Amino acid sequence: MTILQRASCVLLALLLAACGGDAPRVAGGEGIDTGKIYRWKMVTTWPANFPVFQEAPELFAEQVRIMSNGRLEIKVFAGGELVPALQVFDAVSQGAVELGHGSAYYWAGKVPAAQFFSTVPFGMEQKGVEAWLYHGGGLELWNELYEPFGVMALPIGNTGVQMGGWFNKKIESIADLKGLRMRVPGLGGKVLDRAGGNPILMSGGELYTALERGTIDATEWVGPLHDLRLGLNRAARYYYYPGWHEPGTELELLINTARWNSLPADLQHIVKQAAAATSTWTFSAMEYHNSRALKELFAKKNVEVLPFPQEVMEELRAVTRQTLASEAEKDPDFKRVYAAYQAFRESYQPWHELTSRALARE
Ligand code: CA
Repeated sequence: MTILQRASCVLLALLLAACGGDAPRVAGGEGIDTGKIYRWKMVTTWPANFPVFQEAPELFAEQVRIMSNGRLEIKVFAGGELVPALQVFDAVSQGAVELGHGSAYYWAGKVPAAQFFSTVPFGMEQKGVEAWLYHGGGLELWNELYEPFGVMALPIGNTGVQMGGWFNKKIESIADLKGLRMRVPGLGGKVLDRAGGNPILMSGGELYTALERGTIDATEWVGPLHDLRLGLNRAARYYYYPGWHEPGTELELLINTARWNSLPADLQHIVKQAAAATSTWTFSAMEYHNSRALKELFAKKNVEVLPFPQEVMEELRAVTRQTLASEAEKDPDFKRVYAAYQAFRESYQPWHELTSRALARE
């Protein structure tokens, strides 16, 4: 056995341990009908032509088609084309479609604890989140939460650190957040609420008009790439960083469990590998395109890119702790997943301090 063969056996064993799958058999192995073509549908939570986020599922489907030699064909539908964006989870759960692409905080109303598999204000960034998911038991917890719905999840990318959002007034103290009508989803919205603000839920397509007309005072969206695409720089002057509320939002591949179980083992393996490849592509694409779009923003005279003052960050961090503790009292699963997330984070933190944090201080 060559070094490469040994390495790929180890990788395979790790993937199987992480995903709880059966040993895959190679295409053409006993019991596999290699002539059978599976035609699956995949719905997403993103608008058509949405950069990176909607390109990623299309890339995933293409990879699966190539690797399976056309035995698994996946047709991708953007949000609203087959089902509304916020009904993706239900569509996969009910078996109307086999696959979905989104982020777990969209299902907070149904599964509050799912938010830990999306992002946590002042929580871990991409590398910590993915260390937890792939190696620290996170993925198993995630799948336990979704099991009653007949759904499985696999990580399929991360947005990286987001931006803090667009404001029409300067944020100089936490008092400036009082009464502020701001579009901010998930746990970040709950933190804003506790800090005296007024979080508003609104889809991306509505943001520009709402901000420009003053229906909302501020909004976060993603980062320079997507924010410029919506033209938010023409509706507000101050662009704050960092996105304390979304430090590393994980994207998810949702799979209908019954349909997954009907898939031959080699095709299951291909789906897992395509998801892993798409994950790498997504995060690196976000870093690349955001860095380029930021340069474009710096060149715009009507935009000021500003950091949240340290005092505001510290107060929001304290309010976040209170918010998470209060949410944990309302839901036992939230409490259990929060404890697991915190335990992993505490064990990971010293390594993070000696590496990325130490370098950031240079
Ligand atoms: Ca966001």
